[in-house]
Amino acid sequence: MQIPGIIDPIPTPREVTPREDGRVDLIGLPKKRITELFEVAGLDAKAAKLRAKQVFHWLYHRGVMEFEAMTDIAKTMRPWLAQRFVIGRPEIVLSQHSSDGTRKWLLKTADGHEFEMVFIPDADRGTLCVSSQVGCTLNCRFCHTGTMRLVRNLTPGEIVGQVMLARDALGEWPRAGQADLSALGDDLVDDEGGYSSDGRLLTNIVMMGMGEPLYNFDNVRDALKLVMDGDGLALSKRRITLSTSGVVPMMARAGEEIGVNLAVSLHAVSKEVRDEIVPINRKYGLEELLQACADYPGLSNARRITFEYVMLKDKNDSDADARELVRLIKQYKLPAKVNLIPFNPWPGAIYECSSPERIRRFSEIVFEAGISAPVRTPRGRDIDAACGQLKTAAQKMSRAELDRLADEKQAALG
Ligand code: SAH
Ligand code: SF4
Repeated sequence: MQIPGIIDPIPTPREVTPREDGRVDLIGLPKKRITELFEVAGLDAKAAKLRAKQVFHWLYHRGVMEFEAMTDIAKTMRPWLAQRFVIGRPEIVLSQHSSDGTRKWLLKTADGHEFEMVFIPDADRGTLCVSSQVGCTLNCRFCHTGTMRLVRNLTPGEIVGQVMLARDALGEWPRAGQADLSALGDDLVDDEGGYSSDGRLLTNIVMMGMGEPLYNFDNVRDALKLVMDGDGLALSKRRITLSTSGVVPMMARAGEEIGVNLAVSLHAVSKEVRDEIVPINRKYGLEELLQACADYPGLSNARRITFEYVMLKDKNDSDADARELVRLIKQYKLPAKVNLIPFNPWPGAIYECSSPERIRRFSEIVFEAGISAPVRTPRGRDIDAACGQLKTAAQKMSRAELDRLADEKQAALG
């Protein structure tokens, strides 16, 4: 029997998506790889390096979708590129708008797997919630994505492709004549260059869509490097947050090799409850997890870890739970804030959301101990875009339905 939470990730080494026409999709590839491909295609080393630099800039910084638009590349060179390479984007199957402004896109990979991304606009920022996998191998009991059976890691191109699609949809690629931000370096771009905070809709990225990003570490890292590259999408690492359910052995590497803000889906403060609702806890327990948080590089009061805590009625929402949460954060001396997430229901879910009074009281207890504990307003519930509601149409069978089918099968077998 498979034990939920200790299912190993499915490895899918697919750096270059093979296409029937033999052309290679450049999206998702770093400059070095593009250079190599140009050399293999026949350019000498010097020309390959120069062309790769130009093409990289057009692809990731300017968002062009055709080689013809790369105006500083010789006219004769453009068809040469188009014969050998393509500029891919995930296919948009469906785009939905919530009454609160939240937008959700159902996307499809070239080999037919569906996944979702969500854009959440606020007064002073706009956050894109990006998926890292189709489905999720973990089965947190309150999460709809966790009931999906089909899982494949998304490639770097499919991950960075989500951010590029969002820029396409929001019309937010820098135009010709705008300052070249590559000279500013990635840390300066959004504060000094006014690139992402200057009235733009898309200012922040959270790796909180479908999937467990640390079970697809290499691809998530490679994609985020393109997002953070000053000559790429040029978004500061301070505006990117990666959320993990607690894949302890990968947390230090995430800090060192990616360096973005960390969010941890804590959700419970005792072994008993966390084992039940976040089953990866059976593999990596609370003490190990909190120690890995304490060891996460670069934490300070200005750069805190976020603990996500879903409010489940009579499960993890008592005053004692709130006090224990405070005690743990203090014991491990964590610069932390807590995000309280009202549980978002989905068909077949076995939990209920805590009452507003309960959530308020929980928040107060944590807040009175000097730790910020805002309640996250659910967004996009009407289009199933809120936290934990993502599950593609092809996979809309609920856990209850699946259990019922299994029971029926059992009964039929006698
Ligand atoms: N797999 C990663 C990131 C994706 S989930 C992780 O688990 O951290 C993003 C956040 O939404 C997580 O904190 C997750 O626990 C939470 N979540 C999942 N299902 C939810 C639901 N039904 N209601 C509210 N939050 C939920
Ligand atoms: Fe996977 Fe995160 Fe959902 Fe858990 S909460 S099943 S880790 S997507």
